[in-house]
Amino acid sequence: GGELPLDNLEIARGTPGRPIMEIAADLGLRNDQVEPYGHGVAKVDLAAIGDPSPSRRGRYVVVSAITPTPLGEGKTTTAIGLSQALCRLGHKATVTLRQPSLGPTLGIKGGAAGGGYSQVIPMERINLHLTGDIHAVTAAHNLLAAMVDNHLYQGREPRLDAARISWRRVVDINDRALRQIVIGLGSRGDGIPRQTGFDITAASEVMAVLALADSLADLRQRLGRITIGRGTDGRPVTAEQIGAAGAMTVLLRDALRPNLLQTLEHTPAMMHTGPFGNIAHGNSSIVADHVALTYSDYVVTEAGFGADMGAERFFNIKCRASGLTPHAAVLVATVRGLKFHSGRHRVVAGRPLPESMLRESPDDVWAGGANLRRQVENIRIHGVTPVVAVNTFPTDYASEHAAILAIARESGVRACLCSHVQDGGEGALELAEAVAEAAAQPVDFRLLYADALAPREKIARIAQRIYGADGVACSPLAEEQLAQIIAEGHDTLPVCIAKTHLSLSADPKLQGAPTGWTLPVREVRAATGAGFLYALCGDIRTMPGLGTTPAAYGMDVDDQERLHGLF
Ligand code: ADP
Ligand code: MG
Repeated sequence: GGELPLDNLEIARGTPGRPIMEIAADLGLRNDQVEPYGHGVAKVDLAAIGDPSPSRRGRYVVVSAITPTPLGEGKTTTAIGLSQALCRLGHKATVTLRQPSLGPTLGIKGGAAGGGYSQVIPMERINLHLTGDIHAVTAAHNLLAAMVDNHLYQGREPRLDAARISWRRVVDINDRALRQIVIGLGSRGDGIPRQTGFDITAASEVMAVLALADSLADLRQRLGRITIGRGTDGRPVTAEQIGAAGAMTVLLRDALRPNLLQTLEHTPAMMHTGPFGNIAHGNSSIVADHVALTYSDYVVTEAGFGADMGAERFFNIKCRASGLTPHAAVLVATVRGLKFHSGRHRVVAGRPLPESMLRESPDDVWAGGANLRRQVENIRIHGVTPVVAVNTFPTDYASEHAAILAIARESGVRACLCSHVQDGGEGALELAEAVAEAAAQPVDFRLLYADALAPREKIARIAQRIYGADGVACSPLAEEQLAQIIAEGHDTLPVCIAKTHLSLSADPKLQGAPTGWTLPVREVRAATGAGFLYALCGDIRTMPGLGTTPAAYGMDVDDQERLHGLF
């Protein structure tokens, strides 16, 4: 942020949380279903997931956005503010979010637990280790890596082709020096030398597995289906064949139980799992949504990035896996975001907005309106009608808000001005009313494609119907991989397209709603454990680096054990 005279950490620290067991009790959870982790956090037993009959469950609301600037347009804050507002209207509402990874916390300054008076607390816990779930993912992932190298070293069956082991290692720190490494150096007893590398833990397939599993048994099976590489016979080898899936599940048992926290207004919040937004689906866990839907009238969940990515994957990967039906969607739009889509301004992560964007200009907002229109259609194509939430900033002008409201009106959707960052739930009451009304309408939820559609056609459908591309151009390698995916029977899986989140296209420099372009598909890989294919389109980093001035420089602890420099 930085635009706001509000200090997120000061606000969060200034608001003592209620005992977490009271939040749990208000939700209707029994004491034996909840295990406290300190004062403000608890884990919820999966046995608390109730009757799956749709009539006994809450309404399911997904929060998405226009294509964001590098600063983020406010999905997390809006999801939190909306859930606070629904509670103010007398409903039981729970917000479900991803757990932030340490990488960005120590790297680029910027919160992932909301902002201003729409935050989840305890903020320090959230942004550090919370209940250790991410570390458990790191351990389970690296256990498999160690067992793969031991399998190779011991010469066990099936014989591994060292050059075709694709399972890398992970760590939850941005560390570019680990992207490409050589392991097994030393003497004969130190392993077999080979080239590999590290990804950030959020990019681990184990994280995606944890987010998509709906029970411990399902988690165990998905882990077993992970492909670690190929044997000397060229056939894929799974974690089950390495003998690692059972022990990985042991390491992940507690991590599968969702974390219960609270908002600044003491309403329930669940933060659970944090799959990467590009090579994975970028949504919080299915089990947290199941728990929340069992006990709440409304569950508000955030889907990472713009509607073309997060919401599309929410519908076609997460809802396909869970079988849950969404009842309403929120599309967050900002003045700064639409001005950015006019193509007249440049926004750089970690830097303040350029002066030119702070001048009153409804014309710039109109010029960027194509992006909002397209993202509205991207939700509608799934049979869900979005409500547009205009996330207002103190630097906006009324004429610019009016422009967004008019663009939404032209698209035939409702739009509301929101000030939940400045005002908490009070600032999102109109949005809450609109969402409650939308969620009461009958839904005609449709997946974008059937399981049976060929993978290449799935990619083309997303590219053409969602991104607005003319078509798809696969590299020879991608063509070869697509043929292999079909030959090995993974062609019924849904597709996660890994492209830039800063454009509807695959080129981060193209704003608005670009047309007349082709989606370049470099590679298509199968995440056979998580249960999706992912198509690499453009430069996709799975291990970020630190910037010139990482946030870590500003962090310290004082004599009173108070933390400094978090946010
Ligand atoms: P997203 O989830 O879409 O990436 P966030 O909700 O995390 O976006 O918001 C991105 C950043 O912008 C955060 O630092 C947040 O505190 C700040 N922010 C969001 N909305 C507002 C607002 N209305 N006024 C001021 N700052 C805001
Ligand atoms: Mg967010």
